[in-house]
Amino acid sequence: MNNDLINLEYRGIPASNGISIGNVYIIKKSAPNLINKAIIPEKIDSEILKFENALTQLIFETNEVLEKVANENDNVTSIIESSGLILNDPYLKANIIKTIKECLSAEASIVRQIEFQKQYFINSKDAILRERAYDLDNIKGRLIEIIRNKSVYKSLPDDCIVISSSITPAEIVKYKEKKIKALITEIGGLASHACILARSFEIPAIIGVKAACKNFINGEEIIADCFSGTIYKNLELTLKRYYINEISHLIEHKKKLGELVQIEAKTIDGRRIKLKANIDALSEIAITVQNGAEGFGLVRSESILLNKNRLPKEEEQYKWYKEIADRAFPFEATIRVFDFGSDKFSLGLSKAEDNPALGLRGIRLLLSRPDVFEIQLRAILRASSHKNIKLLLPMITNLNELLSSKEVIKNVMKDLDEKNIDYDKNIQIGVMIETPSSVLIAKSLAKNCDFFSIGTNDLTQYVLAADRNNEFVSDIYDAMNYSVLKMIKMTIKAAKKQGIPVSICGELAGHSAATELLVGMGIDELSLVNSALLETKKKILSLNYEKAKLDSKRFLIEKLQIND
Ligand code: PEP
Ligand code: MG
Repeated sequence: MNNDLINLEYRGIPASNGISIGNVYIIKKSAPNLINKAIIPEKIDSEILKFENALTQLIFETNEVLEKVANENDNVTSIIESSGLILNDPYLKANIIKTIKECLSAEASIVRQIEFQKQYFINSKDAILRERAYDLDNIKGRLIEIIRNKSVYKSLPDDCIVISSSITPAEIVKYKEKKIKALITEIGGLASHACILARSFEIPAIIGVKAACKNFINGEEIIADCFSGTIYKNLELTLKRYYINEISHLIEHKKKLGELVQIEAKTIDGRRIKLKANIDALSEIAITVQNGAEGFGLVRSESILLNKNRLPKEEEQYKWYKEIADRAFPFEATIRVFDFGSDKFSLGLSKAEDNPALGLRGIRLLLSRPDVFEIQLRAILRASSHKNIKLLLPMITNLNELLSSKEVIKNVMKDLDEKNIDYDKNIQIGVMIETPSSVLIAKSLAKNCDFFSIGTNDLTQYVLAADRNNEFVSDIYDAMNYSVLKMIKMTIKAAKKQGIPVSICGELAGHSAATELLVGMGIDELSLVNSALLETKKKILSLNYEKAKLDSKRFLIEKLQIND
């Protein structure tokens, strides 16, 4: 082998810690809207068959869902029914087949025809027809997913390192099932939900690796050092040996951290910091409990719905929340109501918007859909009889949203009372502090809620005007930026003044570089990704609170001009 070609290095942004040695599996994706793939005439029949099979499967899935939601409220059934109508539209089907016959692939024909029809809906003056544009988007995505599932996920070998242009949260769930060794993507942001899930599932990951799909070939052995964000190919034996050794050290290190499970997170001079876990999937509960989490500080309820194709009924939701409360007991579980919208999975409830992160997401969406909100609240409240559930409201930007949400909660409680259904009448209601406006009105929010949870992932994106999913601004998107830290301090101050507890549940809670500062600033609780729990505990055990307080005070005066 030519020496120049040994240990070729590629770099990206480390997104989920770990080191993996494995064989590459490339998943090439073209953005559905850009597909323009011509096929040879001999392939027309097989492409038509591909499309027809996907359509049959989707009609079957939709009918199945329709049967299940038969007793749901009209809104839910009408969403599913409207998808059924589109799928059974002979005009759309005929047009897609016609396009395939013009030598375009099944995927490209689906995109072309659905986009064409979508424009008609989008431009319509009728609001109901405009709504159907979103149904079309879902149908397009799902048809392509069915077609790709057959060729991509089913043939995905266990233990491979996946290289893909991009990644969605739903794909991460599939990769977890396939036990992939690591994930490398060309685009994405560190605080994207896909990356959060990768860390939750402990799948080592590197993002933002330019032209990754071109620079690697299927089956070749590579090393992904997801601590430094370096990928090596054309491996030299010495390098491979070095990394095999590093992997054994990591296993040893993890074992050592395991000894901290039973120890309380306390600084040397006795300041207790509650260490809780963020939960994105029910399957994560066991490992967080094993790792000694003192309850769940953020249950992202919308993430539990990943891979569901319909909004679950109250009964089904009740069972999840009950399981979460039971498993957390005697600790608490903070269940955040659905934060649908933006880059998150939304079951088609959110609209196609030009700026979704600034659009109808979180509490805004829930308040516009009281049917969805009330069902979830009923399910959570019914599960609260152990009195260890707390309710958390996402994306609050004004006091009215908090007061309106409390009004909806009060009404649901009234209904439960009338039916003699047991629940925690004093359930605590907290606000996610994740927008600059919520920080600026923190005083009045604090007067009207029971606790704060700072969502640094969104707070960073909104304070710095840098999309959390966009690798082009990843250098600007920095949760340790002084403006973000100043906002955190302002929130802690407002909470302390009102005497309510404040926690951090964004990814910053698990950054060891931030622990001392956050503890010194007076944070009461950190809720973090499972994989960072023990490492953070180790850090807290090494701190002196009085010193951390003094250091942070100095930092606040010098760098943030906060003098308190
Ligand atoms: C956050 O924004 O910091 C947060 C914890 O919520 P999410 O990442 O789910 O938006
Ligand atoms: Mg958020």
